[in-house]
Amino acid sequence: MIPEVAYIGLGSNLEDPVYQVKSAIDEISQIKDITLQHQSSLYQTKPLGPKQPDFVNAVISILTSLRPMELLDTLLNIEASRGRKREIKWGPRILDCDILLYGNQSIQIPALTVPHPEMTKRSFVLIPFFEIAPNFIFNDGKSLQTLVEQFNPDEYMKL
Ligand code: AMP
Repeated sequence: MIPEVAYIGLGSNLEDPVYQVKSAIDEISQIKDITLQHQSSLYQTKPLGPKQPDFVNAVISILTSLRPMELLDTLLNIEASRGRKREIKWGPRILDCDILLYGNQSIQIPALTVPHPEMTKRSFVLIPFFEIAPNFIFNDGKSLQTLVEQFNPDEYMKL
């Protein structure tokens, strides 16, 4: 299989979030069939949903010969190995890994939606994404730069 470029969003707001995100990136980059290409800075961001600690977020790009579901399973295993609990929607989490984009593919199956349906609304995804892909254009023709310009820079802090 020809390797594809995939973008992955990471987030944590429990149990040393900086460590969680950095070590998850290390773990992902050591997986056979994955080559880390670019890695954003870490950003401290305000949580959506219930009152909870700030998040640390980052976005990476990888080159991978894993198929989308294999990549998802790999990421879910890494999340599970950190003891993530899933009880509360929008709630605090030790580690969250989302497939934002997988090449140019559009995937809609029960376990996986790509492009990630919320990504264009979330500053904590778009701002780190913009750092590593400043010229990115979405399939609908919108530029990432245009989307990023709508956010208030005070909402996010580079660590
Ligand atoms: P959440 O904990 O809210 O991130 O949801 C995790 C679940 O979302 C996983 O078990 C996946 O099956 C599903 N999912 C659907 N699309 C995606 C995606 N693009 N990236 C990661 N998980 C996804």
